[in-house]
Amino acid sequence: MNKDNSKNTSVRSNNQASTMNNVAASQPDVLIVGAGLFGLTMAERLVHNSGKKVLLIDKRNHLGGNCYSEFDAETGIECHKYGAHLFHTSDERVWQYVNRFTKFTNYVHKVYTTHNDEVFPLPINLSTINQFFHAAYTPDEAKVKIAEQAASAPAEPQNLAEQGISLIGQPLFDAFIKNYTTKQWQTPAEELSPDIIKRLPVRYNYDNRYFNNKYEGLPVDGYAAWFDNIVKSCQSSLEIRLETDYFTDPAIQKLRAAKILTIFTGPIDQFYQYQFGELKWRSLDLQKEVLDVSDFQGCPVMNYADLEPKYTRIHEFKHFHPERQNSQPSNNLDDSNNYKDARSDDYNENDNTNHHNSAETSSNLMSSRQPWLRDGRNYYAENSGKSVIVREYSKTWHRGEEPYYPVNTADDREKLAQYQALGRAEANVIFGGRLGEYAYYDMDKTIASALACYDSLKTKLN
Ligand SMILES: Cc1cc2nc3c(=O)[nH]c(=O)nc-3n(C[C@H](O)[C@H](O)[C@H](O)COP(=O)(O)OP(=O)(O)OC[C@H]3O[C@@H](n4cnc5c(N)ncnc54)[C@H](O)[C@@H]3O)c2cc1C
Repeated sequence: MNKDNSKNTSVRSNNQASTMNNVAASQPDVLIVGAGLFGLTMAERLVHNSGKKVLLIDKRNHLGGNCYSEFDAETGIECHKYGAHLFHTSDERVWQYVNRFTKFTNYVHKVYTTHNDEVFPLPINLSTINQFFHAAYTPDEAKVKIAEQAASAPAEPQNLAEQGISLIGQPLFDAFIKNYTTKQWQTPAEELSPDIIKRLPVRYNYDNRYFNNKYEGLPVDGYAAWFDNIVKSCQSSLEIRLETDYFTDPAIQKLRAAKILTIFTGPIDQFYQYQFGELKWRSLDLQKEVLDVSDFQGCPVMNYADLEPKYTRIHEFKHFHPERQNSQPSNNLDDSNNYKDARSDDYNENDNTNHHNSAETSSNLMSSRQPWLRDGRNYYAENSGKSVIVREYSKTWHRGEEPYYPVNTADDREKLAQYQALGRAEANVIFGGRLGEYAYYDMDKTIASALACYDSLKTKLN
């Protein structure tokens, strides 16, 4: 199974010193720190639209940052290494942009939750409400019922529990939100800030699509293939070094000293040696298990709304790609034709064509990297009697662990403002992405933010 994007000719790991010699011999125009979606998008734009030579580094051994996935060797099932990632957007510019590098499946995300040994659909909708109250409310009746129950909350909620009750009433809050949030934050809802929950969407119909966006889906050949396609489209103008830390790699220190233009997508507080203190994050403990069952839970994500079990949810990855069960191995996939469109100088901003599942896009972007299909065999189908699950536990973040969700207290925001003031004064460093901006961004927002960052930079560069 393919696990390692470093097989790509453009990608080198740290022990391949010749790459760094190349860089030293011909200094790049721009250094990008972090090969997540922000860094990859900036790299692609700088190469294709500004003709820059870019060096992209990452301290990890793969591309894609937190969106990275790998194929489980035993089962051929694609597993999202840093938590499940579902692509969804209503942003036409982003949708058009991402479709240059991958085709997306028809996957529609749906989530269920277990409460008191009973399974309910999420987000809370008329089906959840009627099942919970053993009722057959119409939309208007349900609205009246929830409004009555919400009226018991104080006018100015002082904590997350009061805030939640003011939004959806006590019974639904207690069942579906209170204990789940307590597990997420490892703090009782009564001790959490009301700011954490601004709104709790309730749908007064039977629609249980998790996302409301115009487009959603998963990259047909997996996330790694998507990111490889971006890299390959840049050909020799983009050099990549993995397992290379911006703060410690000796060759990178020379580029720092040379004050090369740098796009930094690592943590902004680390960049400034935590001089105003650490910005706080939540982290996750993701426990993977391969099971000898064809279907463990019948859906991709099952939340656990009660205090027990201690995990917040279980992901079962095979449900993200049911179409792979029937895909056929083919020997006719030709890498050289894959990235024709992606190499064009720019994409047409005014082309609003929906490329979702378009046969035309598919033929241009068909990738040879379908790691569940090998040697004329479909490993995914052959292992249909097995499944891979990941139990997700929330935990407090400590330096050195993976930061996942910004805690974003008033104290954090104050520190961030101080770091950002230093950042604005930098002549040759731009901070971006979730770690550089200390923000939670979905993938589409990360790409939109990188495209906007490039737009404001390009006039200075060209
Ligand atoms: C658990 C979880 C689930 C998510 N699920 C979804 C989802 O379903 N849908 C969705 O749209 N979005 C989802 N997201 C959001 C998504 O992960 C982000 O939008 C995206 O990863 C942000 O990309 P980025 O490039 O800003 O950051 P990252 O992906 O974090 O990339 C930053 C990179 O910088 C590297 N780096 C850091 N410091 C250094 C250094 N000193 N030297 C070299 N490299 C360095 C890191 O190794 C990393 O690879 C989820 C996020 C989390 C936490």
